[in-house]
Amino acid sequence: MTIREILTAPDPRLRQVSAPVEVVDDGVRALMDDMLETMYEAEGIGLAAIQVNVAKRIIVMDLAGEGEDPRPTYFVNPEILDPSEETNLYQEGCLSVPEFWEEVERPARCRVRFLDYFGKEQTLDAEGMLATCIQHEMDHLNGVLFIDHISRLKRDRIIRKLKKEQRLAATA
Ligand code: ZN
Repeated sequence: MTIREILTAPDPRLRQVSAPVEVVDDGVRALMDDMLETMYEAEGIGLAAIQVNVAKRIIVMDLAGEGEDPRPTYFVNPEILDPSEETNLYQEGCLSVPEFWEEVERPARCRVRFLDYFGKEQTLDAEGMLATCIQHEMDHLNGVLFIDHISRLKRDRIIRKLKKEQRLAATA
């Protein structure tokens, strides 16, 4: 397994729309293994393939709390079905927008249809943090970041700070 580099906003590659996976084969599984490893190393709870510069509709997640056994989950070609009218507000962060957290409003519940690690079709009824996390990761597959859901003023401020940090890192 390999730790891959995570793209950081405003990298334009994060804006690509990812393509569906045709077959869940060993190559796709190896990518998912790398993604999970990369996510754990970065101490994230979810990661989309585009964040490691692979424009495929793949997500890995693990919402296990501290001290709990790992619960890796893999979503290939996920689709959101029946999002609830009721919404939730959650403080969201993102490995591609490091060190910033903002409240985002999303449907409180949804059903997800996807292929699992072995290419088998599954459906999952999600609520709470799981529903939020899946919708956040689904956005990545469509080139959308959580900061697109907040005010332009806040978004511009975050992007400005990220660019400044990247400039400093490049010259360090
Ligand atoms: Zn994210």
